[in-house]
Amino acid sequence: MKAGLYFHIPFCVHKCRYCSFNSIPYNRELAWKYVSALLKEMNLRGEIEPSSVYIGGGTPTVLPMESLRIVLEGVKEHFNPAAGTEITVEANPGTFGGIDFAALKALGVNRVSLGAQSFNPEELAALGRIHGPGEITRAVDALREAGIADVGLDLIHSLPGQGLRQWEKSLDEAIRLSPQHISLYDLSIEEGTEFYTMNKAGLMTLPPEEMQVEMYLVAVNRLEEAGYERYEISNFARPGHECVHNLNYWSAGDFIGLGAGAHSRAVARASRNVCDVKEYIVRLEKGEDPGEAAETLTDMEREREFIMLGLRKRRGFSFEDFRAGFGTDFMDKYGPAAAKMADAGYVSAGPDGVRLTMKGVLASNRVIMEFF
Ligand code: SF4
Repeated sequence: MKAGLYFHIPFCVHKCRYCSFNSIPYNRELAWKYVSALLKEMNLRGEIEPSSVYIGGGTPTVLPMESLRIVLEGVKEHFNPAAGTEITVEANPGTFGGIDFAALKALGVNRVSLGAQSFNPEELAALGRIHGPGEITRAVDALREAGIADVGLDLIHSLPGQGLRQWEKSLDEAIRLSPQHISLYDLSIEEGTEFYTMNKAGLMTLPPEEMQVEMYLVAVNRLEEAGYERYEISNFARPGHECVHNLNYWSAGDFIGLGAGAHSRAVARASRNVCDVKEYIVRLEKGEDPGEAAETLTDMEREREFIMLGLRKRRGFSFEDFRAGFGTDFMDKYGPAAAKMADAGYVSAGPDGVRLTMKGVLASNRVIMEFF
């Protein structure tokens, strides 16, 4: 089976204030057991031909170099990625001290996604990040020196108290470093985070919605002027440097996730591993499968996912791919909704497929729901 492979490393130096990901503070002993459990889970998985490999988290680079080496050697031994397969490691610019990126490159890593988030020291401190702007620049330099071909930066906008000027500064600094890929996120306040509690207590002022839209539009203009192509609602890349792993996801391709809380979706079966790190380790030590939730997706659910994810891509999706996946004609089934959205200027439906216009991008959630 061909699939994107994801490995979750659930450890961080400490929890950022806005973070709702499955991550816990790094603990040497627990992390060591976790890596060994991850190898056991690799053993449990059948034959998979990786279309891409993504080591995410959490903060994979909080692991000692030796542990990262073991994970990557495990990937090679169990799944034998073909030469040239995209292999990404997520990294936090504040954890570069112990990582030998030249060694990671020798182990097959050809892409590093850096969680920069902002280039304003006050914003980074407010987010609870462990690095300043200088560390982002040093991290990019270190990656270039190590010969890592693809570097991506993540940025967050619509932060508490953030104005257009601060956001433009972050964008300009990111562009100045000339990474091959830039991802934008607008801050979302998730239950269970420190930001959620602060927001509920009225302790933060978020930019109004019109400002959030303006921040997004400013980013699109600046990034496109700088030679980045928007290939997904929030993702921009220099031509030829789109993230293969995420494109597979937005194309509703199969993916297998290993590690605590990791999701998988293969053919019509969706599943998730236990989120609790200790329970994940215990299960694998007992030789048990760490999966806890699995369901077979109905055709309707698969169609819905295909449309929702496909419309996130700038090129949308093709009628041919829809027919290949579901054996039915998209326009026969969704023609009236597509026509309504096209008349309102939210989608563009050509003879081959359908995609969102910029007006549709700005109202994407609402537009997508119109199809169901
Ligand atoms: S580094 Fe990333 S995963 Fe870790 S706590 Fe911060 S936002 Fe969450």
